[in-house]
Amino acid sequence: MPLMPETNPTVPADMSLYKAVREGLRNRPGDQPLPTEGGESVQDALIQHILSHPRLGAGAHALAAKIGERRSLGIQRYGRPLQTFNGRDAVQDLMDELLDGATYAMQVKMEIDSFNTRIARALSRHTADETGQCRACKVPLPCETRQILTSKKQPPEPELKITKVEPVQEVVCSPDAVDEIRRRFGVTEAQTGIPNIGELMGFPVYVDDDLPPGTVRLQPSTPKQ
Ligand SMILES: [Zn+2]
Repeated sequence: MPLMPETNPTVPADMSLYKAVREGLRNRPGDQPLPTEGGESVQDALIQHILSHPRLGAGAHALAAKIGERRSLGIQRYGRPLQTFNGRDAVQDLMDELLDGATYAMQVKMEIDSFNTRIARALSRHTADETGQCRACKVPLPCETRQILTSKKQPPEPELKITKVEPVQEVVCSPDAVDEIRRRFGVTEAQTGIPNIGELMGFPVYVDDDLPPGTVRLQPSTPKQ
């Protein structure tokens, strides 16, 4: 595809008109007013709130960075981050975003369903004919297409990421790592509960839902809520 020229020829020389049209596109009838200068930065407060979590997982930093990106986008679009008392009804904004979120979730589901239907249809063409060969490829089954469509490649087992913080008094791990710890110590769930596995290692084991997959932390004991 040829590169587009840098300048957009449809932008009128009168930039104030251009700006007015852009404003009009961003703020249509029935919309809430565009945000006005308000109070505190909500994204800064949210980032601070996330990073002040006492047991910070690696995911928390990634999440904080994503919120920082949304903040930059807001500044680009509206000249300011999301602020308190910005002239908009925050509950209405929340409701609108949740409805959009539910709609996108439905779109994902529909696209996955459609994808699965297409795979099923393709598979039905790569079945045995009266001689036992693939009726589409004319080779013994399973043909290459059938193999690809039915392959269930398991993702590689995650390596445990073990961090040790002295003095070690407890083990905290992500939910998936509990099974991995059980497996490595040869303990079944029926034989022992999670605390007993900890005793095998000399420490109690706690599961932290916020830790990223495959994380194990040997750390000083922390007060439990
Ligand atoms: Zn085939």
